[in-house]
Amino acid sequence: MKNRVYNFSSGPAMLPESVLLKAQAELLNHHESGQSVMEMSHRSSSYESIHFKVEKDLRRILNIPENYEVLFLQGGASLQFHMIPLNLLKPNEKAGFLISGQWAQKAYEGCAEIREAVEVSSTKDSNFTHVPEIPKDLSAYAYVHYVSNNTIYGTRVESCPPFDHPIVVADMSSDILSREIDVSKHGIIFAGAQKNMGISGLTVLIIRKDLLGRSDQKIPTYLNYVTHQKNQSLYNTAPTYPIYMAGLVLEWIDEMGGLKQIEANNSLKAQKLYDYLDASDFYVCTANKENRSWMNVTFKCPSEQMDTELIKLCQERGLVNLKGYRTVGGLRASIYNAMPMEGIDALISVLKDFKEKNHV
Ligand SMILES: *Cc1c(COP(=O)(O)O)cnc(C)c1O
Repeated sequence: MKNRVYNFSSGPAMLPESVLLKAQAELLNHHESGQSVMEMSHRSSSYESIHFKVEKDLRRILNIPENYEVLFLQGGASLQFHMIPLNLLKPNEKAGFLISGQWAQKAYEGCAEIREAVEVSSTKDSNFTHVPEIPKDLSAYAYVHYVSNNTIYGTRVESCPPFDHPIVVADMSSDILSREIDVSKHGIIFAGAQKNMGISGLTVLIIRKDLLGRSDQKIPTYLNYVTHQKNQSLYNTAPTYPIYMAGLVLEWIDEMGGLKQIEANNSLKAQKLYDYLDASDFYVCTANKENRSWMNVTFKCPSEQMDTELIKLCQERGLVNLKGYRTVGGLRASIYNAMPMEGIDALISVLKDFKEKNHV
């Protein structure tokens, strides 16, 4: 399609074109209902059939065991930084945090506003270029929180979870549905939808059933997971359109051959880009090799001025949102599931041209 750019944004991020076209085709009249999904009552049977299919598809694709609930929430991943400690921690308990970047830090701060939060390990001193070491003994903490993919710094943990604990909490906002994971080793997995699962407005939370009501405290009704669980995520008006869009993304994952195939594609995409950068003798990747993310590739030119010029050249060639986060600098190419290999090739082609012009 003409005029569509390759969008390397970290989020909201690009969607598969076929998903957008399907949404467009169904916009005015969804499945003979005579209305748009945006206009449907969340209590209607038309909407309910979407709602429950999305849950079913997500359970199948992520292989979510029976003893887990799937909740569709609002407030972004950020609201979970408060809801999780409220729902899990008893007053005398504390939670441990692996500080692997800004989102882990925010989760830690969110918990500290409610209960005792402990920094178990941190890589702040190296500006988060790698993921933290895991201390041997984590038994002092009621739960331990980690971030599977560090969106800003371009690092990830290789196996999820990277430690054993009775209650592991995982923020998978920027790599959910990018690879196969073992849900059963987690207590809670949560993710905002706008990076790899659809559009903003929806947060998916997967929680082991025995953890519902764990804190045993009086929690404001809306912030209590039990409220949403009892009402099948329809306590109040659900984010109906984002849920519908997540459903289209899940159908697209099936069409692509499922999560295994998506994971293989992501590995090839990331490898190709890192291989080029490593061999370039010009660009430098900012994340440690062993911890490199497959979703967010962070790198730099030999000077800041070149970074700026390169970002401009990319923009001119239809590759957008490549500016790195301000605390990291350089460039960041976010290459979530929806970024096709053609987008990687187009980026490498611009990188080659720029290097040729500037290499001394
Ligand atoms: C984007 C992001 C968040 C914040 O998500 P919101 O939905 O904007 O609250 C949290 N954690 C990680 C890892 C992210 O990438």
